[in-house]
Amino acid sequence: MNPSILVINCGSSSLKFALTDPRDGSTPLSGLAEKLGLADASITFRHDGEKNGHPLQDGTHSGAMKAIIDKLDELGLADAVAAVGHRIVHGGERFKESILIDEDVILGIGECSRLAPLHNPGHLLGIRSAMESFPALPQVAVFDTAFHQTLPERAYRYALPASLYHDHAVRRYGFHGTSYRFVSTAAVDMLGKPLEETAMVCAHLGNGASAAAVLGGRSVDTSMGLTPLEGLVMGSRSGDIDPGLFNYLASALDLDTQGVTDLLNRQSGLLGLSGLSNDCRELEIAAANGHEAARLALDIFCYRLAKYIAALVVPMGRIDALVFTGGIGENSAAIRAQVIGLLGFLGFELDSPANERTIRGKAGRITTQRSVPALVINTNEEDMIARDTARLAGLAA
Ligand code: AMP
Repeated sequence: MNPSILVINCGSSSLKFALTDPRDGSTPLSGLAEKLGLADASITFRHDGEKNGHPLQDGTHSGAMKAIIDKLDELGLADAVAAVGHRIVHGGERFKESILIDEDVILGIGECSRLAPLHNPGHLLGIRSAMESFPALPQVAVFDTAFHQTLPERAYRYALPASLYHDHAVRRYGFHGTSYRFVSTAAVDMLGKPLEETAMVCAHLGNGASAAAVLGGRSVDTSMGLTPLEGLVMGSRSGDIDPGLFNYLASALDLDTQGVTDLLNRQSGLLGLSGLSNDCRELEIAAANGHEAARLALDIFCYRLAKYIAALVVPMGRIDALVFTGGIGENSAAIRAQVIGLLGFLGFELDSPANERTIRGKAGRITTQRSVPALVINTNEEDMIARDTARLAGLAA
């Protein structure tokens, strides 16, 4: 059996995992433990196209990890696990690439918790329980922020007092970096041009959404900032707003800063605009049935995205390709068509039949031959984490 990587994406109350073969990206077993820490914690497994699950007797992160090991044993896959790769949302300025985990790295991830209080503490729980469960295996941390550590200072600094950067780490970090690394590398195969010579804008459009300018394989600017709230319109996040809104809402609605933060993160975006849903597919159906607010929400989503894509051409001076990925980017022909329609002045021209058929797992070019290429690429962050982990663990990938 090929040595495989157990890829773990652990939140404060959930643990997503995938056993991945880094050679071909295949995933013989994957799953999700949910509601960890609560009485009704459960785990679901996917194996051989079948999905099954059960409540967790021990509903802690360690209990979930034990259930995963039991399942690996039951399927005869336990001996294949050769290393564990952890997705980590925030690596601050310290972690510029993936790294083998030791106590010092754990401390560093802990220090970044102030920048990602909803994510990094959960990742640490995952690391600790994986280390308990697999004490002999190498563990690797792969950071969402690392790919954007190549941003030049003029792109990552806010126009705020310099002490905020020096004393409080206030700067733009960017996210979705593992996805951008995967799709920008994959795009090169389709473009037939070396990565070093390519200027592309990649748009990762899922429930969270961002875009990045990738020049010669390096991120040079991106839409998300200190937190994943900045930039594009998202499922329930507002993206860019006037910072003056904080004070205005605090007095108009008598909210404290946490109240405004919740409003911007959980009640805004497509959900807030439509009053209906954060789900793009649902909104497309509603808009087709005449729901005016759903139509407006999608319109604003596309307009903001097109504006950002055009702005992200500035740091590169040109654009050789546009890449769509994430649940919306990979599946919504309507969103892609609208965005490309707004970008005609940059040399984009939609190939409508190609766009309509490039959905549900298909990848490829959706613009005409004379257009600047726009590509749809199915992202695979787990595969990227598995490849990094195999490399750092010294396994031939
Ligand atoms: P992700 O966070 O990458 O899983 O993406 C989730 C988003 O993808 C949700 O807004 C879904 O509505 C959207 N999505 C998935 N499939 C489709 C589809 N066929 N058409 C439009 N949006 C889709």
